[in-house]
Amino acid sequence: MKSIQDLLNLKNKAAIVTGGAKGIGYGIAYRLAEAGAKVLVADLDEETAQKTAKELTDKGWVAEAFKVDVSDEENVKAMVVACKDKFGVVDILVNNAGIYPPAPVAQMTKDQFQRVIDVNLRSAFLTTKYASEVMKQKGNGKIINITSIDALHPSMVGLAHYDASKHGMWGFTKNSALELAEHKIWVNAIAPGGIATPGVAAMSQGATAEQMEASTKAFLAKIPMHRMGEPDEIGMVALFLASDMSSYMTGEQIVVDGGALLS
Ligand code: NAD
Repeated sequence: MKSIQDLLNLKNKAAIVTGGAKGIGYGIAYRLAEAGAKVLVADLDEETAQKTAKELTDKGWVAEAFKVDVSDEENVKAMVVACKDKFGVVDILVNNAGIYPPAPVAQMTKDQFQRVIDVNLRSAFLTTKYASEVMKQKGNGKIINITSIDALHPSMVGLAHYDASKHGMWGFTKNSALELAEHKIWVNAIAPGGIATPGVAAMSQGATAEQMEASTKAFLAKIPMHRMGEPDEIGMVALFLASDMSSYMTGEQIVVDGGALLS
C-alpha cells in the first residue's frame, strides 16, 4: 500500500487552476502547489494572478501566472499550450473561474444570460476538450469542476442563469467522466456552499449596513454550521480529488456547504 505522504504527493505533476488568482481558486492553487504540483494560475485578472504566483513561489513552490478569458476558445488553447510549454505536461485541470452577477429573469438581458453560460459552462467544455488531448497523450489526468450547491438546489432569487450554468456543469461532469474513463482521466466536481471570497463580498456592494446585516443573518440561519466556508476548505477537497486519494472516483460531485442543503 502507498503511504499517505505518497498518496497526497503531487510532485512532478502540473496543474491549471482557472480563476486561480483569488477566492476559491486561490485556495485550490495554494494546496496543489503545497503538495508539490507546478501550478498555472490562469485568470482574467493578470495583476492578481501574478501576485498569487509570486506568493506561492516565495514559499519555495512552483507557480506561474497566465492571463486567460476562459470563455474564449483561442485563449483556452493558449492556456493549455502555456502549461505544456512551462511545465512539460497537463496532469490536473481545475475549472474554477466563474461569475454570479444577480439579476431577476424579467430584467435579465440575453447577453447577460449568455455571458454567465459562456464563462461558467462553455469554458469547461473548451478546457476539457483541449486539456484532455494532452492528458490522453500522457495516459492519465484529473479534471475537477467547481459547480455549486446551486447545481442541485437554488440558493437565492436572481441566479437563474447561474443555476442553469451550474446544473449544466454537473451534467457535463458526469458525461465527460463517462467518455474519458477509458483514458484514465477522472472527472469530478466540488459543489461549494457559501464561501467567503472577494466575489461574494462584491455582491453586497451598494447595500446599507442594515441590509448587509439582515441578509447575512438570513443566510447564516440556513447553514447548520452557522458560518461561511473558507476558500481553503474547498482547496483541501480539491487536493483530495487531484491526488491518488480519490483513485476509484469519477463522475462524482462532493458537496462542501456546512450542511446548507440539509436545511
Ligand atoms: P471570485 O469572484 O472571488 O474569484 C473568481 C476568479 O475568477 C477571479 O480571480 C476572476 O478574475 C476570475 N475570473 C472571472 N471570470 C473569468 C474569466 N472569464 N476567465 C478567467 N478568469 C475569470 O469567485 P469565487 O467566489 O472564488 O468563485 C469561484 C468559483 O466557485 C465560481 O465558479 C463560483 O461559481 C463557485 N462557487 C462559489 C461559491 C461562493 O460562495 N464563493 C459558492 C459556490 C460556487
